[in-house]
Amino acid sequence: IYVLGIETSCDETAAAVVKNGREIMSNIVSSQMESHKRFGGVVPEVASRHHVEQITLVIEQAMNDADITFAELDAIAVTQGPGLVGALLIGVNAAKALAFAHQLPLISVHHIAGHIYANRLVTEMKFPLLALVVSGGHTELVYMKEHGVFEVVGETRDDAAGEAYDKVARALSLPYPGGPHIDRLAHEGEATIDLPRAWLEEGSYDFSFSGLKSAVINALHNAKQRGETIEAKDMAASFQASVIDVLVTKTVKAAQRYDVRQVLLAGGVAANRGLRAELERKMAMLEGVELVIPPLSLCTDNAAMIAAAGTILFEQGKYATMALNANPGLTLE
Ligand code: ATP
Ligand code: MG
Ligand code: FE
Repeated sequence: IYVLGIETSCDETAAAVVKNGREIMSNIVSSQMESHKRFGGVVPEVASRHHVEQITLVIEQAMNDADITFAELDAIAVTQGPGLVGALLIGVNAAKALAFAHQLPLISVHHIAGHIYANRLVTEMKFPLLALVVSGGHTELVYMKEHGVFEVVGETRDDAAGEAYDKVARALSLPYPGGPHIDRLAHEGEATIDLPRAWLEEGSYDFSFSGLKSAVINALHNAKQRGETIEAKDMAASFQASVIDVLVTKTVKAAQRYDVRQVLLAGGVAANRGLRAELERKMAMLEGVELVIPPLSLCTDNAAMIAAAGTILFEQGKYATMALNANPGLTLE
């Protein structure tokens, strides 16, 4: 089975061909990061324009790299949502046009399902499993008892982890996106600043990062007023320690509670070196649970993960119709 995946939910224009839901034949990502940098965040209009300019080229290159023709494809999978509506529309319309022109099944994929299925490009999924999804817009613990069925057992009540990283980075005058910069600084600094950890109610697998973000901003502000300086690297280390402590502790608890066979890491923040290391360390103590962490290139937005998730839907016969529309608020469950 050969599936072409298309992803345009945010600021990456991506296309990929995946064989049997497991094997990457090609994986093209055109990033717009440079264009958004000077605004300190993704500007929706700028993103849409980039997608329009790049989409045809990116798809062509994915097909060329995979050395495949449309006649040899079995389906076209595309991110329907969530994301920026103007950005999603470019991918959805491209997928519809190609599916119609080449008479191929059209498959609609949830972006977060895609992030989770990036793991299937690394190893076979073993159910039941738990996925920790940490990205720019999501922080969720997702329980899966079989392919294509998602149960959100915990989620953020305010900011997503990636969002908190980016906001704290901005407070530290680091470039956008701030996640990788904080990660780098955190390894140079020491977690000497006392910051809160939002555990929430006993037994809750939900997250909250806005209090932590405010605590960082307040600490920086107060230090400045007193004429003191807090080293950015120490603040980065302290912030990162708090985020990782909560993420890892709740993930390990949920893995035990739901008695899973695998824990998967997914989303852009999964690129975080500190998170990867701490999750590895803590999971090593849980017997019989396999930890899967995709390579960095599969953690951030890409279309191979969309093709991988789409392949399952194709096998289940869950096709979309030509009436498919972008849905910025699409839910996972
Ligand atoms: P979503 O998937 O929720 O729609 P998104 O697609 O914008 O959001 P991703 O592209 O998956 O999110 O991830 C981007 C986020 O990952 C940014 O917030 C970025 O700062 C963060 N990030 C990337 N690398 C790292 C890192 N090493 N440490 C921490 N955060 C990181
Ligand atoms: Mg992105
Ligand atoms: Fe994403």
